[in-house]
Amino acid sequence: MTDVATSLNAVLERIAHVAVRAGRPVPGLVAVSKRHDAAAVIEAAHAWRQRCAERAMACTGVAFGENYVQEAVAKRVQVDAAAPPPATWHLIGHLQRNKAREAARAFDWVQSVDRIAIAEALARHRPASAGPLQVLVQVNIDDEGSKAGCAPDAVEPLCDAVAALPGLALRGLMAIGRAHDDPEHARPALRAMRGLFEQVQQRHAGIDTLSMGMSADMEVAIEEGATLLRVGTAIFGARG
Ligand SMILES: *Cc1c(COP(=O)(O)O)cnc(C)c1O
Repeated sequence: MTDVATSLNAVLERIAHVAVRAGRPVPGLVAVSKRHDAAAVIEAAHAWRQRCAERAMACTGVAFGENYVQEAVAKRVQVDAAAPPPATWHLIGHLQRNKAREAARAFDWVQSVDRIAIAEALARHRPASAGPLQVLVQVNIDDEGSKAGCAPDAVEPLCDAVAALPGLALRGLMAIGRAHDDPEHARPALRAMRGLFEQVQQRHAGIDTLSMGMSADMEVAIEEGATLLRVGTAIFGARG
């Protein structure tokens, strides 16, 4: 196996192990491929499908995460040509209004919706033929230094707005935990996110996705009830 294949399998094993230990459903995985080339993504896609085939499972969970619209568009063309779909592509980076048109066409999910103007722009540009764009509302749960993500008290109105827009399907919440030397220090914010998620679920019964946890804090995130992890470095190695 290649390095990427070995690391991807190790991450998937680890996720399952920690979830079982914590008594949680096994969360999904978005492999974050930003600043890694198409060849690495193709390796990961093949390894992922092979793993499903070995387990005689439907391979519905193959997903890649990208931060920049242009980079993702170029990569997706190459990956689709080399590895047959279905893989889903998630935009996880901050989205500017002038990129919303391209993003609405290029991605299956946008996890970084943090204001109504962006939601409206995505809805306007989502081609009807592509089906609804899957949307997560990004919450700034603990990072005062970052402007990305809406404030916790803005989550409900923004979720209501997304749910009402044609072309968008509200699926849940996303948060980027602040970096800590000790992943245990990430726990209070991750726990607060789970609380917020359950609160939003009372209004929007259909939502099923809480995206949190990266390479450094994925175990704590699983324990605190993440349903989707975004892992880059532990799969693809350090970014150049
Ligand atoms: C880069 C990135 C990740 C992955 O981070 P790793 O530490 O490499 O696992 C996850 N989420 C977001 C929003 C990112 O920008």
